[in-house]
Formats: sequence, C-alpha cells, structure tokens
Amino acid sequence: MRIFDPHIHMTSRTTDDYRNLFEAGVRAIVEPAFWLGQPRTSVGTFVDYFDGLIGWEPFRASQFGIRHHCAIALNPKEANDPRVHEVLDVLPRYLAKDGVVAVGETGYDSMTPEEDDAFARQLQLAIQHDLPALVHTPHRDKIAGTKRTLDVVRESGIPPERIVIDHLNEVTIGLVVDSGCWMAFSIYPDTKMDEERVVRILRDYGIERKLVNSAADWGHSDPLKTRKTGDAMRAAGFSIDEVDIVLWQNPVEFYGQSGKLELAEVAPDLAATFAGNTILRGARA
Ligand SMILES: [Zn+2]
Repeated sequence: MRIFDPHIHMTSRTTDDYRNLFEAGVRAIVEPAFWLGQPRTSVGTFVDYFDGLIGWEPFRASQFGIRHHCAIALNPKEANDPRVHEVLDVLPRYLAKDGVVAVGETGYDSMTPEEDDAFARQLQLAIQHDLPALVHTPHRDKIAGTKRTLDVVRESGIPPERIVIDHLNEVTIGLVVDSGCWMAFSIYPDTKMDEERVVRILRDYGIERKLVNSAADWGHSDPLKTRKTGDAMRAAGFSIDEVDIVLWQNPVEFYGQSGKLELAEVAPDLAATFAGNTILRGARA
C-alpha cells in the first residue's frame, strides 16, 4: 500500500514517527503551515517556521525515505492576532519556492471579520501563484462555517477543483459534494472522525475527489491513521485499486495542480513500478 498523507504536521512529531510512517507505506506528505500551540508574537517567528517547512523538515523526512512538501499560509486562528497580520505580506516570497505545493491551511476558526479578510486575501494569492488551496473548516459551528467557506470560495473566482475543504464529517459532506471542490477527512484517535466512519462516507459518497489525512498535530493524534483507513477500506470490501486512488492517486492529482510535486527521487521503488507514468511528476491531467 503506497500512501501520500496530504495533511500532516510533522514539526510536532518525532523521528520514530517518520520511521513508522515509512514502514506503513507512506512515501510522500504535505505539511500545511498551522499554529504552534503557543501564540506567536511577531512575523519573524513565522518566517523561521516557514524556512523550517521548506528546509529542515524536508531534509528530516528524506532521511527516512519520505518526500516532504508543504503548504504555506497564515492559519485561521492567528489571523485574529494583529501582532502577526503582516505575515500576509511575506507569503508571496514563500509561495514561489520549490516544494510549496499549495496555500494552506487557510479558512475559518471562529468566523471573525479578520478571518474573512485573511481567507479572501489568501485565495487571491493562490490564484496569483497558480496554486491549489487547503481550506480548514471550523470545529465549532461546522455547518455555518462550511456554508460560509463555500460562499467565500465562490466569490474568490478560484476554480473549485483547486480547493480542498478539510475536516469534513457526516454533517458537512453533503454541503460540499456538489460544489466541485475536493473533500478531505482528518482521522483522529477519539475525536472528530475515525476510520470506520470515513469508510461509510466513502461508500455512500464515492471515492472521487476524496482525500484522507492523519493531521497528526500537537493534540492526541495518530500519524498512521492513513494506513489504518486503507486497512479499514480493504476490510469493508474496497479493492486495492480503490484504496490506491484514495491514499495515493487523489492527493497526487490534487497537489499535482501546483506543477511542483517531486516524487520519483525518494520513492525509487515506486518510480520503478510506475516508470513512464507521468503521475509521479504530478502532471496527471
Ligand atoms: Zn492541520
């Protein structure tokens, strides 16, 4: 089973996690920029963090055979903090870098006017930089948050196939399924969404434009939830090909829209298996 985790915060994980990810079949990941638990007090700490996401963390991942990409953004929670608002002005510099395959995570936390502004501005940056965007939906007031998210996406003019709406569940999936956006599910050990529930959603709504991630952040989380979802799909009767579509081909297709996925060199086993297949270069139409 080859796995691409499209949303995993490795900054908060250990080298044991990298080793376990590789053993479970994970060969590629995207680490979106997010908050660091302790609020940041200046733009400089964002700059150091972004430098880590394009420098140190990819190096750390490569030592364990995993290709690391990232998404760069001002996260929704800190969009409310005036001390760091100017980080929006440094984003363009990072969005142009190799390995930055999306704007993210952006979206809503508490749905404040400040979040409205940061979200709309960052969707414009995605358009200007020809990148897809990873959109976080709030964990509170999820239905209103998801509806408002879709309104902002529509108003931005970004093509919906360049957007993934993340942290969906049984209550919000129906709002997004006809929007043209990609749909993502963060699988956690005991909150929000688990692998059995997402398998039911995949059965009810199909595997097209669906992504599954482990998020694996500062809280109680499990970086192997992608693999566990693949196993749960198999146990529920999904074929090996269907699992591969959800856990590999879909994230490659979504982030491949950036034109910046580089998968061959750290996954030589996969490169040999798929020699001549442009999917490994992210160029799949
Ligand atoms: Zn996240």
